[in-house]
Amino acid sequence: MPTETFEFQVEARQLLQLMIHSVYSNKDVFLRELVSNASDALDKLRLAALRDDSLDVDTTDLHIEIELDPDARTLTVRDNGIGMSYDEVGNLIGTIANSGTAAFLEELKEAQDAAGAEGLIGQFGIGFYSGFMAADEMTLVTRRAGEARGTRWSSRGEGTYTLESVDEAPQGTAVTLHLKPADSEDQLHDYTSTWTVKEIVKRYSDFITWPIRLVPQPGGDGADMPEPETLNSMKALWARSRDEVSDDEYHELYKHVSHDWREPLETIRLQAEGTFEYQALLFLPAHAPHDLFTRDARRGLQLYVKRVLIMDDCEALLPPYLRFVKGVVDAQDLSLNVSREILQQDRHIRMIQRRLTKKVLSSVKEMKANESDKYAAFWREFGAVLKEGLFGDPDNRDALLAVASFASTHAEDGATTLQQYVERMKDGQDDIYYMTGESRQSIENSPHMEAFRARGVEVLLLTDPVDEVWVDAVGEFEGKPLRSVAKGEIDLDVQGDEQADAEREKQGEVYAGLLGWLKEQLAEEVKDVRLSTRLTVSPACVVSDAHDLTPALENMYRAMGQEVPATKRILELNPSRPLVQGLNQAFQEEREDRTELVETAELLHGLAVLAEGGQPKEPARFVKLVAERLERGLR
Ligand code: ADP
Repeated sequence: MPTETFEFQVEARQLLQLMIHSVYSNKDVFLRELVSNASDALDKLRLAALRDDSLDVDTTDLHIEIELDPDARTLTVRDNGIGMSYDEVGNLIGTIANSGTAAFLEELKEAQDAAGAEGLIGQFGIGFYSGFMAADEMTLVTRRAGEARGTRWSSRGEGTYTLESVDEAPQGTAVTLHLKPADSEDQLHDYTSTWTVKEIVKRYSDFITWPIRLVPQPGGDGADMPEPETLNSMKALWARSRDEVSDDEYHELYKHVSHDWREPLETIRLQAEGTFEYQALLFLPAHAPHDLFTRDARRGLQLYVKRVLIMDDCEALLPPYLRFVKGVVDAQDLSLNVSREILQQDRHIRMIQRRLTKKVLSSVKEMKANESDKYAAFWREFGAVLKEGLFGDPDNRDALLAVASFASTHAEDGATTLQQYVERMKDGQDDIYYMTGESRQSIENSPHMEAFRARGVEVLLLTDPVDEVWVDAVGEFEGKPLRSVAKGEIDLDVQGDEQADAEREKQGEVYAGLLGWLKEQLAEEVKDVRLSTRLTVSPACVVSDAHDLTPALENMYRAMGQEVPATKRILELNPSRPLVQGLNQAFQEEREDRTELVETAELLHGLAVLAEGGQPKEPARFVKLVAERLERGLR
């Protein structure tokens, strides 16, 4: 097969341009990335050999080699891991297809300046391509375990790369960087210096469980080094005692397992001793991944059995609502070749899951107790996911409710726990009031809030889609029911206020006719029309019946493909408004031609729907009616 030349996708080219012009100030990390990839490839080979007896590979000396050639100015990172087939090289290295990168490039287009771009690289990382920060040409030679032929990939990082099938290649992958000149202006270290490379490996890759060897170069400054030297301690961080490991080291492990370039928010260690022994090292990321709510996204912890990685993305170790947690679990007594299905059922795995869940939740509780910015950042990023646990994991509901915080009309620093809400409740208030909606602003402006605002009653402002679900599942907190301000009848008046009761009764009589007539007129839209106790300035609003689905929930079920009948709502009128009073008067005049009255009823309902962010059933007709009324007003 001849050498074929391919063009990078437009996006890939942009990314490479960035690398070449190296806006990212910490260029040393390219070595961490290449070593990380090599380490993954060794893990994969060992796993493949474990699962497939027919795979004829030698796994006795799996390792990573770094070879420096100061004369040719090259640095090579070589592994005898799984390798890649011709197609895989094209797919994995040739294109930048993974979704993280796609999101990265989206934002990159918006970030025009170098500082913005640097921030983005720090956020997303760019793996293999980071080599172009230090090199103006990269070559990769690889042979997939079990295959006869190898593949050579090469690129100057400009518009194109070449692919070529080669007869001879050692199994595994060798990546060679043709280094740019070491240059103080570009702040490039001399990556052909053994000292520099040793420092970088020690700093970023010490914990890698495979040996990273520096191959002596005759003629180079490694000439006095007869044997390859192993640069890393290979000690699994989770197996070392806490005071032996620095935060930086933990952070590098986090970056290796998560492919995130940023520091984690929190590191959580756990050592379980006794009959079933295991260690866990977990990380709470500082930022939610873009695919947090994508159904098929890859998640899970790395599962080791006695230092041997047996699964890269073991989901069974944590409940779905902790899917963002990264890290490693190393168990002593699991079988090396357990399958995913068996793991899901395994008693020990379930035990670990329970324990890890409690540990993560207690760490969050601690962050919260310290009133740190950490907790605020954590909840901002992951609160919406944790709330899934409120209905998904009843066993930990109380622990979750203790750390959950919500925006509220009364919270001083913007958020409150349910506990704090209860402590602030007014005398005679029995319920915890909340309102759901798309944004804080839309909720605060909604007519349903009027009476609560007028009486200074606190309302939780819930804006995550999941809020609709958990409030129903949880139902109450410390015996106080959770109640939507937009559902059912609301009675905020002090009990036994006789004057208010009498007033209401009188109005009930005055409006009885109108309410009955409206109910008939709007029968297709609403199931009842009544006078409101929740409005002060708005003429009308629509509310849901106490146990009915809200429009948001209905939409959610429909989006999930479930059929739900449309639920009719209730129209509430505010008898203190001239519009409502006038309507009643017009109704009582019993004119022949009721067209105008009918239209007014329709408009009133439309306004109520609009006020809560909904849409009148026939927007065009609604607009036409409004325009006619406006015109008439101008005459
Ligand atoms: P990431 O490592 O974040 O997935 P990279 O761009 O670094 O992104 O690598 C893309 C893919 O190329 C890897 O996921 C892996 O499948 C493959 N790859 C990279 N380096 C190696 C290697 N040394 N051996 C085998 N496969 C590799």
